Amino acid sequence: MFENIAPQKIDLRQWSTQFRLLEDTDIKQFKYYGNDEWGVYLSPPATFMVYGARELKKLKFDNSLSALRLWGFAFNESERLFRARQSGKHIVAAMGDLGTVPVITMSFPECVPFYPDCTWWTPFFNESTVLLDKASELGTPEGSCFVRSTLAAFHKMAYFPKPDILFASTGASCDDYSCIMQMVEDMGYELNWLEIPYRRHRKDYHVEERYTKTAHGFEYPERFETYLVDEYKRVWHKMKQLTGTDDTERLKQSINKNNRLRRLTHEIRELTHNANIAPYPGLEMMVIEFGNLYGYADIDEWLNILSMVKETILGRIEKGLGVLRPDAIPLAWVTPTADPLLLNIVEDLGGRVVATEYVINQALVEIDEEIDPFVALARSFMDASMIGSTEERIRNITTGVDSGKVAGVIISNMLGCSHCAMETRLIEEKLKRVPVLAIDVPGPLGITEQLRTRIAAFLEMLR
Ligand code: SF4
Repeated sequence: MFENIAPQKIDLRQWSTQFRLLEDTDIKQFKYYGNDEWGVYLSPPATFMVYGARELKKLKFDNSLSALRLWGFAFNESERLFRARQSGKHIVAAMGDLGTVPVITMSFPECVPFYPDCTWWTPFFNESTVLLDKASELGTPEGSCFVRSTLAAFHKMAYFPKPDILFASTGASCDDYSCIMQMVEDMGYELNWLEIPYRRHRKDYHVEERYTKTAHGFEYPERFETYLVDEYKRVWHKMKQLTGTDDTERLKQSINKNNRLRRLTHEIRELTHNANIAPYPGLEMMVIEFGNLYGYADIDEWLNILSMVKETILGRIEKGLGVLRPDAIPLAWVTPTADPLLLNIVEDLGGRVVATEYVINQALVEIDEEIDPFVALARSFMDASMIGSTEERIRNITTGVDSGKVAGVIISNMLGCSHCAMETRLIEEKLKRVPVLAIDVPGPLGITEQLRTRIAAFLEMLR
């Protein structure tokens, strides 16, 4: 459809002009939940600005049809969840584990998992402090992570429908979010708690027991698998009570489908990060990585979108085309940025993201399909980003630095985040052999000239 248009990043106005090239039939062929009547989601991105995502007028987007689908689908999620509720599906809130509970809940018919945690981005896309102010009123300190906007969303009940069931993972998970989940419970929501074990290894704790290793080579006591299996079986049991269904064959199918998604995302990341010229922008790539958490509440359509993204990328690589300048500086990005605009700014100033650590490794690894499905889920989760040492968390970044692929590292801190405060200096220390820029992501509308200048100076120094 847009095959003859050269790849580039374009703004809302340009997208609205380009959108006119589409016929009605083109628009109507893409739909969520396969519904012809109300499932169409393709619109010019300006539509979502009108609905409240005001930051979009500052952002630039990839100009391919695949990116148009990606943005239409991602911004349509709230509508999709309310439609799911209207059409009788069960809404399942998965919280805190970022990647594994949805694989279980998707095994049950007409169940739609989503992550309330992702409300984190809403104040930034909306350039609004409404949710953060409400969260302060509800008792969260201003100096805590922006994820407190989730608490306000639960209070307002306008951003997603009231879930039929909620699962909350705590333990070796995010402390800030554990507090938020407890406050959600205090509001009267019934939370089903799961505990995540810390992936300690032999050299730190001298306890006689059997140890094993994850696919990424991280060591952990084998009994943690049994422990997590019990936790996941409790999730299964709750879902069985909710739906009256109990078919572990469906769990195997769900694992298979999620593995397809994880493989596709892996291929897209590899192609994009290793191409001579960046074939797809960093912001869209962040949306793609986070899609692995739950397929944006319709994994089938999300898989279709990613297949098209991969075709776009392959086509561009074949023609030697891309969306950034060929000499863009290869960077690793550690911790996802709450404000999407920062990814645009870094690219505008001459950077390019070629490696990431967005705290969701557990959603990126493949799940073993040859063993018991619950054990396979537990084993895959033991590869999680935040349950082990800092060294393990950033291993793929260290590898990128050592191989010469990464010239510099950006760490985007969130004010008040416990892991940012504790880990950033450690990460800098461990990456001593490469320049590192740690920036604090300011609140909505808070990006200053001073911050831009710091990023520009960092990139200039690297160049
Ligand atoms: S940014 Fe950090 S502190 Fe905030 S929710 Fe995510 S993991 Fe937790």
